Amino acid sequence: MKIIDRPALAELTTLRLGGSAIAEIRLDSLADCERLPEALSLAGGSAHVLGGGSNLLIRDGELPITVIRPLMGSRDAEGRPAEPEVLGAEDGPDGKYTLLRVGAGMRMPFLLSWTVRRGLAGLEGLVGVPGRVGGAVAMNAGSYGCSTAPLMRSLTVFTPERGLHEIGPEGWEASYRRFSLVKPCSWYMSASVVLAMKQDDPAKLRRIMQENFLRKKSGQPVHEHTAGCVFKNPEGESAGRLLDAAGMKGRRRGALRFSEMHANFLAHDTKCGIPGRTEDALALIAEARAAVQERFGVSLEMEVKEWPAWR
Ligand SMILES: Cc1cc2nc3c(=O)[nH]c(=O)nc-3n(C[C@H](O)[C@H](O)[C@H](O)COP(=O)(O)OP(=O)(O)OC[C@H]3O[C@@H](n4cnc5c(N)ncnc54)[C@H](O)[C@@H]3O)c2cc1C
Repeated sequence: MKIIDRPALAELTTLRLGGSAIAEIRLDSLADCERLPEALSLAGGSAHVLGGGSNLLIRDGELPITVIRPLMGSRDAEGRPAEPEVLGAEDGPDGKYTLLRVGAGMRMPFLLSWTVRRGLAGLEGLVGVPGRVGGAVAMNAGSYGCSTAPLMRSLTVFTPERGLHEIGPEGWEASYRRFSLVKPCSWYMSASVVLAMKQDDPAKLRRIMQENFLRKKSGQPVHEHTAGCVFKNPEGESAGRLLDAAGMKGRRRGALRFSEMHANFLAHDTKCGIPGRTEDALALIAEARAAVQERFGVSLEMEVKEWPAWR
C-alpha cells in the first residue's frame, strides 16, 4: 500500500480535469485491503474508487475525498504487466469456455489483446475502451454488442460493511452502463473478477477487433482528452444524434467543447492556452441537456460519473 498526499486528480483522468483529493491510497495486492479501513479513517473524507479515470468528471479545487486506487493485477512481482490467471476450462451450451481470474487494476486494452491472442472471445467489441478492469465492471462497459457483465462468473469485492468477500451473479445487478451490488453497502471496490470466455479462432477475433477499431476511429475523437460518451443513449435513440440535432456539435466554453466528430464527446483542448475548468464542462452539459429537453422532450442521463459523488 502506498499513500500519497493531495494528489492532483486531473493527472489521473483521461479528460485531464479535476482538483486535488485529501489522499490517494494505492492498493497493490488483496492483502492491502486489510489495512484499507485504517488508512481511510486516518485520511478522512469520503471514499471514491478510481480505475483508469476514463469515465470521470471531477470538480475543481481541494476536494473532501480520498481516492482508492486498486492496482492489483496490473504488475507482477518484477514490475512487468501481470497476466490473467487461467483457472480452467468448461463446456458451455455453445462450446468450450476458459475461466480467467483478472485483477481489478489490469488495463482493459491489455486484457483485450491478451484474450484475443489466445482465441478467447467476448471483449473484442470493447476495443478502444480505456480504463481498468474494475472500472469496466463498475460501468458494465460495452460496445458493438459486447458488454462486461455477461462474461462475469464471480467478483471479489471489498465493502466497509463486509470486508473482502466473493459474490456470484446473484450478488449483483447489471444493465446498460449500470452495475450495483444487491446487498446494501455504503460503497464497494472490486478487487478481482472471474470471467468465462468462449474459445474461438484468434485470427477471426483479431479481424473483428480491427474492424471495430477502424469504425471507432472514424467516428469518435479517440485521440483527444475526453471521458467517452457524456450521456447514455436513451432507449432506441442515440444521444449523439440528439445533441447534434440540438446544435451542440462544436459548442465551446473555455478549453472545453462538444466534439465536431461526435457530439456526445466532451473534449478538453489542453493546448489552447486557456486552463481547463470543470465548471465550463458542467455549464456545457447543462446547456446540452436543456437544448435536448426543449427540442425533443428527452431528459438525457449522465453516463460520465461526477465527483465528488455525495453519499
Ligand atoms: C476515448 C474513450 C472511449 C470510450 N468508449 C467507451 C465505450 O465504447 N463503451 C463504454 O462503455 N465506455 C467507454 N468509455 C468510457 C470508459 O472508458 C469506461 O466507462 C471504462 O470502463 C471506465 O473504466 P475506468 O477504469 O477508467 O473507470 P473510472 O473512470 O476510473 O471510474 C468509473 C466509475 O467506476 C468506478 N470504479 C472504477 N474502478 C472501480 C473498482 N475497482 N471498484 C468499484 N468501482 C470502481 C468509479 O468509482 C466510477 O464510479 C470511453 C472512454 C474514452 C475516454
